[in-house]
Amino acid sequence: MRSKIVAGNWKMNKNLVETEVLLAELSAKLPDTKAEVMVAPTFVNLTAAVDKLKSSAIEVIAQNMHFAENGAYTGEISASMLLGIGVNTVIIGHSERRAYFGETDEILAKKVVAALAKNMRVMFCFGEELEDRKSGNHFKVVESQLKNALFSLDASAWSKIILAYEPVWAIGTGETASPEQAQEMHAFIRKTITNAYDAVIANNVSILYGGSVKPNNAVEIFSKPDVDGGLIGGASLVADDFIAIIKAIA
Ligand code: PGA
Repeated sequence: MRSKIVAGNWKMNKNLVETEVLLAELSAKLPDTKAEVMVAPTFVNLTAAVDKLKSSAIEVIAQNMHFAENGAYTGEISASMLLGIGVNTVIIGHSERRAYFGETDEILAKKVVAALAKNMRVMFCFGEELEDRKSGNHFKVVESQLKNALFSLDASAWSKIILAYEPVWAIGTGETASPEQAQEMHAFIRKTITNAYDAVIANNVSILYGGSVKPNNAVEIFSKPDVDGGLIGGASLVADDFIAIIKAIA
């Protein structure tokens, strides 16, 4: 059975003190939930976050990593560095990495392989831009993003994959995909994985929705049968909002 997941992507927000304050508030208010709860602070605060959440059910995850084991890649972070501080899950392919840091499907495919080779879990993000949806190409775009980065993986690798469908036009814009649009795309993603692999893999992979999820829309989005939770940006920076979104998981 696939798990429900609510993950907070803090992006380039919160210094060390602010990180500790938010984590203390989240730990204190964390409700009983069947969802896996994750937070992704910035790299420099991961160690402090792991330490702070030692006895909490909240998992600390990373926002990115490099594909190389180590070497002359100034400013980069490797999988083993993350593992070395107790971070076992990494977000790969966020649209901001694609748009602002030139991460192509080819680079992302290498990152996925590198993370899986170290037995890390990968939260792989993808989603179409507004023009793609307007021109009716959104299914094609999503299919090719999945194919280029993931469909060369062995079937066994899929137990370590979490998917996050994030339509770029809904990220940080206050505009969400409607619950129906999210469900339609998530069902399409499962069908695409069934075609590439099989129905068991497709049914076991958690597919999160991301893009302006807020306390006031989370219940409806999460109620859709193929939506297994959310990747939350802005609203994950406010403890009460993030907690409310966690509570929206049935
Ligand atoms: P948002 O960001 O919730 O602020 O739209 C989502 C994301 O980028 O993961």
